[in-house]
Amino acid sequence: MKSIMQDRLSQETMDILTSIGRVADEMDLRAYVVGGFVRDLLLDNENLDLDVVAEGNGTQFAIEISKAMNGSVRSYESFGTSTVTLENGNKIDVATARKESYLNPGALPTVERGSIESDLFRRDFTINSLAIILNGDDSFKLIDFFNGQNDLNEKVLRVHHDLSYQDDPCRIFRTIRFEQRLKFSLSEKTEMLLNDAIQKKHFDLLSGHRLWNEIIAILKEKKPLRYFRRMKELRLLTAIHPKLSYNLGDMKSLEKIEKALPHLRMIPLPAKPEEWKIYLMAILCDLNDEEFTQTCKRLSFSEKQITFYDEELKTCRLYQEKLNLKSDFLPSEIFNMFSAISTEAVLLLAALSDKERTKKFVQLYFTEYISSSVPELTGDDLIELGIQPGPLFKTVLNSLQSARLNGLVISREDEVALVKNEYLN
Ligand code: ATP
Repeated sequence: MKSIMQDRLSQETMDILTSIGRVADEMDLRAYVVGGFVRDLLLDNENLDLDVVAEGNGTQFAIEISKAMNGSVRSYESFGTSTVTLENGNKIDVATARKESYLNPGALPTVERGSIESDLFRRDFTINSLAIILNGDDSFKLIDFFNGQNDLNEKVLRVHHDLSYQDDPCRIFRTIRFEQRLKFSLSEKTEMLLNDAIQKKHFDLLSGHRLWNEIIAILKEKKPLRYFRRMKELRLLTAIHPKLSYNLGDMKSLEKIEKALPHLRMIPLPAKPEEWKIYLMAILCDLNDEEFTQTCKRLSFSEKQITFYDEELKTCRLYQEKLNLKSDFLPSEIFNMFSAISTEAVLLLAALSDKERTKKFVQLYFTEYISSSVPELTGDDLIELGIQPGPLFKTVLNSLQSARLNGLVISREDEVALVKNEYLN
């Protein structure tokens, strides 16, 4: 008889899980699919990330899964984890069931092999500590040691024990993420522990790298504004910079982005923008130079990243002023401005501006100017016309580009005439 869990699975996922179960049988070990996948299955939310845990040698198990399913495997021996990549590119994370102990708050835990129960207990919330058995007589049966299913039904987020946030302060941010994404509330105890952890600033123990991983995960959520509002309410933004909460004020800039994005998404862009970067730039934009540098350092940005955001934001501020000061710009002026910054920065300009014309310029830039900015004449044509390769080339091509954008040339003949008139005697 089919279990209730089987009814919820797509045929494709069923096939994958059945194959994994078969490999587990052959290796005589117990395998489970765990975590977010099971949570989302029960919530009817799509989640294609399979996290598999084996009571046994997870690394060898991953190798056998990849052989059975014609995939490839990459193992991280020291963590006992592996990733199997299937032929269609889908990935399955495979780990050995483990037990963790935290010697120092915020540091990585000491890990030893454990049972599925200990593996589920080391997880963040009861709703993320559910598992489905993949082999043996109980195949596809749900395992729920900690009443996770009940918490899912009650829409409650609950940590396992009093030291959870101290052990791993990343969970403070994960709490915000799941609370806001799923619109769950915190159990009374969890709320108390969370407030206590924030008050004791446990997040200060997190490395910049781990903190950034949490922040970027929040920025990548569908509508991050309310996540930031909640962090502000909980005085959690100080984890990033002590003045951030004050500087973001009532979060007007994030609000403007959230409001503008549905419209901006309708503009055909050369490539799909990374929307989280627009939010990040809006946050960084509200900081002064010193705060900007301190924030980037706290989040362990590389020098290259710091320079990138610094330059983008300075240029954006400059353009913002320019676009506010006058209303008439030649297409080539707009093109030269916007093509010097990333697509995300151009969208930031559009989102933050209160001027309709700035939004119009952004629209025109993407829909018309980019495509009409390419001259017909190529470098070879210029050589044939008698222009020597060298710095002049770029000047000529730029001038052809501007003339095209501004409608001064519309054909190849026009371009040839322009080159002859302006650059050859
Ligand atoms: P998402 O939908 O955001 O991917 P997820 O629950 O799948 O959510 P992951 O970050 O992929 O989240 O983690 C997979 C599982 O690992 C979680 O469901 C949880 O059980 C566990 N986990 C991840 N991070 C932690 C942590 N910091 N502390 C404890 N358990 C964690």
